[in-house]
Amino acid sequence: MHCVILLSTLFSLIAVYTQVTSAAGCWSANACIDKGVCSNRGGTSLAGLCPGAANIQCCSCSTCKDAAVCRSGGGTPYAGICPGAENIQCCKKGGSTSGSGKPVNTMLTGLADILRTAGLKVVEVAGWKTRGHGVMSSVKGIIVHHTAGPATGDFPSLAVVRDGTSSLKGPLAQLGLGRTGTWFVIAAGRSYHAGSTIDDSIYGNSNAIGIEAEASGLPATNSGHAHWPEVQYQSYIKGVKALQKAYGVPTARVLGHKEAAVPKGRKIDPNFSMDEFRSKLG
Ligand SMILES: [Zn+2]
Repeated sequence: MHCVILLSTLFSLIAVYTQVTSAAGCWSANACIDKGVCSNRGGTSLAGLCPGAANIQCCSCSTCKDAAVCRSGGGTPYAGICPGAENIQCCKKGGSTSGSGKPVNTMLTGLADILRTAGLKVVEVAGWKTRGHGVMSSVKGIIVHHTAGPATGDFPSLAVVRDGTSSLKGPLAQLGLGRTGTWFVIAAGRSYHAGSTIDDSIYGNSNAIGIEAEASGLPATNSGHAHWPEVQYQSYIKGVKALQKAYGVPTARVLGHKEAAVPKGRKIDPNFSMDEFRSKLG
């Protein structure tokens, strides 16, 4: 009895191994798609199997089923990932969006109003509602950054955060915060601010809002907030609180980039105490 079970397990393992490795890469060229798109469709991305840019990865789905069956179970079916007939699609569990993480798969076009309603001064940067590297999968986390930009001026890093650099295309964050406490709404979509994180499903670019606050970042310190103008610091707290309320993000998921980034030590921003910052969020 045990032998039969062991033997069949062994055969299944061999079958799986053959399926994964036979193509010497992704199981289908059609499944080489953007990581964020894959995740939006309920798939799981595997790096290193597709040619092209780092975001293009092999998308596989463990919930391939008939599209109608998927819908009747409250899910959303997505074509183009699963092998087999056209009706066999990747079924993303859906229906329930309660708790943190709302809204899903959309541009965050409410950002400016959320901050304004909180009584903050807001500058809407032209084109922000359609700017982004695709839509946000969810809003489960908020990452607090500093720009490490010029030593003076309200928000001299605006162009860099909006347009990016020669090696990394903008937007580099959804929001900017000037030294006067003014918020700059730069992008409603996915922005390249996080890099690799301790948990990309919460803090990755697809799931976390990034805020770049203007600061030279000097001196590099982990305590207090002595090197920040009080008006900017208080505005940072007020703005993050408003975003948390709007999107249901718990304070435990408001992290400094230095806390979210991996490997540990890759980032040092922001140069204030995140424990103190979180204690003000309530
Ligand atoms: Zn950062």
